[in-house]
Amino acid sequence: MAQVKPQVTLLKYTPDPEQTIALAAKLCYSDATIEDLKDGVESGDVSKFIARLSSFGHMSPFEHASFTFGIEGVSRALLAQITRHRLASFSVKSQRYVAAGKNVDVFNYIIPPSIEELGEEAVKKYQDQMATMQRWYNEWQGLLGGDCEKSNEDARFVLPNAAETKMVVTMNARELQHFFHLRCCNRAQWEIREVAWQMLGLVLQVAPNVFCTSGPNCVAGACTEGAKCCGKAKEMREKQQGLKNGQ
Ligand SMILES: Cc1cc2nc3c(=O)[nH]c(=O)nc-3n(C[C@H](O)[C@H](O)[C@H](O)COP(=O)(O)OP(=O)(O)OC[C@H]3O[C@@H](n4cnc5c(N)ncnc54)[C@H](O)[C@@H]3O)c2cc1C
Repeated sequence: MAQVKPQVTLLKYTPDPEQTIALAAKLCYSDATIEDLKDGVESGDVSKFIARLSSFGHMSPFEHASFTFGIEGVSRALLAQITRHRLASFSVKSQRYVAAGKNVDVFNYIIPPSIEELGEEAVKKYQDQMATMQRWYNEWQGLLGGDCEKSNEDARFVLPNAAETKMVVTMNARELQHFFHLRCCNRAQWEIREVAWQMLGLVLQVAPNVFCTSGPNCVAGACTEGAKCCGKAKEMREKQQGLKNGQ
């Protein structure tokens, strides 16, 4: 089966992310030693303090907590979009070192839901097209010297945006909040939106106070998309609430 679907895993994150953010912020307003501040955040509830920080826009402490995700089953089209987020760090499966479709009939690819909705015949046509591109790839790989880095790097020019990629992505909490505003919004393309919501669901479980208002802008306030507003603020709030409840 060459078709794959987006799958996000939270691989690692800063231990005690909320305490780390609170400690960094409290240091700005206190003359206490760092050890005393650390004891203070470890023994108390930081939820109200984190909410206050967000409310008055003191955002730099949120940069001290980082989250690392494994993302697979996504297209090269998604890669082009997610890597526009310049404050994130990326490691991406190489199309030079890893040949497409090695040991399988056809490389892994993503089928857009819009094509699936057209029915079996459309899906079959799409799958045949992917198989054709695999044949083109194999042909160029052969002409350029076989399965090796040197031939893979140019044979890949005939592969589509649909081809699967995998990546490890790290973002700090401030960048993640920004990412969720942009990419959980219904104005974002479906695939990156799906990935963003999966990421939000994962971080809500480990840093609920940091991400409790995260999601598209309409989750915490009014929609900022003007005439392009989708009018689904209520559904978005319910979806985000469902994630908070671990659904
Ligand atoms: C719905 C949608 C449609 C889009 N369509 C297009 C499109 O048609 N064409 C296209 O090219 N892109 C498009 N994009 C991508 C978009 O333009 C941004 O490149 C992408 O969303 C990353 O956003 P960002 O720059 O805010 O984020 P990041 O790169 O993650 O940066 C976060 C924030 O840091 C600050 N920052 C980062 N770097 C700089 C810098 N060099 N100078 C000043 N401040 C900086 C900014 O405040 C920025 O918002 C689209 C995005 C969305 C969500």
